Amino acid sequence: MTLEWEAGRLDSDLDGVGFDTLAVRAGQRRSPEGEHGEALFLTSSYVFRTAADAAARFGGEVPGNVYSRYTNPTVRTFEERIAALEGAEQAVATASGMSAILAIVMSLCSGGDHVLVSRSVFGSTISLFEKYLKRFGVEVDYVPLADLDAWQAAFKPNTKLLFVESPSNPLAELVDIAALAEIAHARGALLAVDNCFCTPALQQPLALGADIVMHSATKYIDGQGRGLGGVVAGRSEQMKEIVGFLRTAGPTLSPFNAWLFLKGLETLRIRMQAQSHSALQLAQWLEQQPQVERVYYAGLPSHPQHELAKRQQSAFGAVLSFEVAGGRDAAWKVIDATRVISITTNLGDTKTTIAHPATTSHGRLSPQERANAGIRDNLIRVAVGLEDLADLKADLARGLAAL
Ligand SMILES: *Cc1c(COP(=O)(O)O)cnc(C)c1O
Repeated sequence: MTLEWEAGRLDSDLDGVGFDTLAVRAGQRRSPEGEHGEALFLTSSYVFRTAADAAARFGGEVPGNVYSRYTNPTVRTFEERIAALEGAEQAVATASGMSAILAIVMSLCSGGDHVLVSRSVFGSTISLFEKYLKRFGVEVDYVPLADLDAWQAAFKPNTKLLFVESPSNPLAELVDIAALAEIAHARGALLAVDNCFCTPALQQPLALGADIVMHSATKYIDGQGRGLGGVVAGRSEQMKEIVGFLRTAGPTLSPFNAWLFLKGLETLRIRMQAQSHSALQLAQWLEQQPQVERVYYAGLPSHPQHELAKRQQSAFGAVLSFEVAGGRDAAWKVIDATRVISITTNLGDTKTTIAHPATTSHGRLSPQERANAGIRDNLIRVAVGLEDLADLKADLARGLAAL
């Protein structure tokens, strides 16, 4: 049934069109006003024509909006566009990337279930499992991302879910998603992938066999550092549970941020392509610099998983890391000597950022935990944006010249 605000020509009938067309048009619905851009519905609730109409909508007999914690037209356009881009049956938006992860685990796991998480995931993801989900009886073990034998060995009879981030931050390790999905399914577990670093423009985990994909939309989906949000996508069977949790618990996406992200998606592929291209050029250049000991970027033939990256991703992403000669002081000197690049741990922005993982994102780990994670004191991470490549090179050259 067509909702009132869907009256008029729909752009949602887009079978067989390409990624860029979906990124610009999928999910769009038009009100009778005939607006060309996606409308921003800043409303918490909806009116009903009659008491009977209210009862029918609440009862689910008649589809339609009842309250924006449940559905909002702008948010739904964003969800449908993400589902189209990830090749998912359904997607649901969340208030942040972290609430997307929370929703996945709260919906699909119970106390007594066991979750396997890749060791190099986002810091707050580890805190979520360690500080909170463990208190509710969810067991967690961490596995080195790339090591399929280690994944096999880590299974327990109660393993329900595998959660991975590929490529990882900041060392750009990968896991063979298709192989890991097979391992998970053979043991009756689900595979969820945090696709934040690649976005569907570069990697589609569901097509590789994963069951669930999630994003911090705060990063490349927005792409311009304006707002927080997240999204989960997958098959209806699992999504039904996740949607139910979000509607009840409430960490849903604000319509304003959904509208921002729709604008972000329109340029997603060209941004990812351009930022990946600059990252590759910078990685190649950094590898030639005498002050640089090692560069971590899957686009380099020196990366142990270069072949897998070529197979699994359509480009290598915009995040690279490198180690400079010396220790913490040397890394800080390089960072402090830059003039164009922003010193911040955020990423996924058109503005290039530079950070020192050992004292920021990974600063709360003990020296031993940091060593296990491969984060050395001389490591610097750069998330490449859209500035002129020559200016970024000059800025990093200025940094390296400080050594
Ligand atoms: C930032 C980030 C998150 C958390 O997302 P928020 O939007 O900050 O809640 C999760 N995973 C990865 C890989 C991230 O970079």
